[in-house]
Amino acid sequence: MEKTINIFKELTTLDSTSGFENEVANYLISNLSPYADEIKRDNLGGVYAIRKSKNVNAKTVMIAAHMDEVGFIITKIMPNGFLKFEPLGGFRDDVLLAQKITVTTIEGKKFVGVIPSIAKHFTDGNSKNIKISDMSIDVGASSEEEVRSWGINEGDYATPKTEFEKLGEHRLMSKAFDNRYGCAIITELFEELKNEELDCNLVVCATVQEEVGLRGAEIAANLINPDLCLVVDCSPANDIDGGSKSNGRLGDGFLVRLIDRTMVLRANLREEIISIAKENNIKYQYFTSPGGTDAGAIHKAGIGIPTAVIGICGRYIHTHNSIIDLRDYLSAKDIIKNILRKVDNNFINNIRL
Ligand SMILES: [Zn+2]
Repeated sequence: MEKTINIFKELTTLDSTSGFENEVANYLISNLSPYADEIKRDNLGGVYAIRKSKNVNAKTVMIAAHMDEVGFIITKIMPNGFLKFEPLGGFRDDVLLAQKITVTTIEGKKFVGVIPSIAKHFTDGNSKNIKISDMSIDVGASSEEEVRSWGINEGDYATPKTEFEKLGEHRLMSKAFDNRYGCAIITELFEELKNEELDCNLVVCATVQEEVGLRGAEIAANLINPDLCLVVDCSPANDIDGGSKSNGRLGDGFLVRLIDRTMVLRANLREEIISIAKENNIKYQYFTSPGGTDAGAIHKAGIGIPTAVIGICGRYIHTHNSIIDLRDYLSAKDIIKNILRKVDNNFINNIRL
């Protein structure tokens, strides 16, 4: 478990937002390469690690994780040295005030800053309705000139800055579990399956620009054209009130995502996943969401690609401090391994019906 926790620490500490996925891409390339027959890139930065089956007629399974986290792009440097920005992905306005930010320049230099919050002394109580468009980042400079002398310019990117923490026995807290969860699981699966003779070709793929609209996923689907795709992503837990009707509860297993804004899980694939979970005593929970994942773009590519999301839920995603449960992560890893061991021509024919 120490190894898994360390992978999460390394991955959530990297800064990669939509359109700026290089840090995570480089991490994945160096960790996947030792076990890959081939590493591919697409022209927008997506990463693919491919392992071929000995069966020459093997079907291809793609496991897709997006690399980008929600972040910001710097749009303007103010005369007083503050940085204006646009969000990359969805933040609630009220989670950003007084939070630490890392600004990364094109040369990879890092600067720490904070999103200013006006002191209570100067407001008539609690400040209401401060919009992201009115916010800025204070990096400690006194002027535009000073900011530029450090090498910070318009078009550079910024990401939440947080400490990685282990909470209790089973839980981790950090930024960006959405979707370093997916990046961690493809890293571990690819290594852990290195000595298994699978009857399918395995492609683990890391996509770009999910948080701004599933943009890299479409490219991935067209490039690999798999017979089955499993998307690995982290979705919002809704279990804070402790109610038993909560949709997505930490510790209740991996998510069987029945429906969201972008895809309906087809019944034949759902039944395969559930029966494999039951056979192997793997904990799962049903999940629905008003959001979407890369699966939304992938299942519509080509002549249609059978696709399921194997997710976990995380509390407080799209903020500086999200929490996941390692037991859910292990359930997700377990179900994917067992699905991969079962995929052959028959399996693929069944889920196409
Ligand atoms: Zn995500």
